Amino acid sequence: MNRVPVAEGLFTWPAEEPQLIGSRCSSCGIVTFPAQGSCPRCASTGMSEHLLPRRGRLWAWTTQSFPPPAPPYAGPVGEDFRPFGVGYVELAGELKVEARLTEADADALRIGMEMELAVVPFGSDAAGNEVVTFAFRPVD
Ligand SMILES: [Zn+2]
Repeated sequence: MNRVPVAEGLFTWPAEEPQLIGSRCSSCGIVTFPAQGSCPRCASTGMSEHLLPRRGRLWAWTTQSFPPPAPPYAGPVGEDFRPFGVGYVELAGELKVEARLTEADADALRIGMEMELAVVPFGSDAAGNEVVTFAFRPVD
C-alpha cells in the first residue's frame, strides 16, 4: 500500500527524517509555515524554501475530543474518531507551529517538553492509499 501525504508541500516525504517545509523571506528573514509566496511582514516576494528543524519544545496544547468541522477536516468521524492532542511547538527559536500531537493523554504532555516531528497515519483515500500527516511526539 502506498503512503501518500495529506497535502503536497507540507513536509518532506518520503523521508526517514521528515521535515516541515516552510519559507524564509530574503528581505527581512521571517520564517513561515506553511510556505508562502509573499512575506506576511514586509510583502517581499523573495521567499525561498526553508526546511524547519525537526525538534522543538511544546509551548501550549489541548485535546481535540470531537471531530473538527469538515471541510477542512478530512479525518475519521463517528465511531472511527479518536481524540488527539493539538499543540503549538516552538522550533528552535524560529517559529511556533500548530500541529497534531501523537499523544492525547494529559499525563504524557507537559509545557516545555522536547518534541520531534513524526509522520503518522491519518486515513485512506478513494484509491486505497494510506494517507499520512505530520504530528509531534514527545522525545523519550
Ligand atoms: Zn519579509
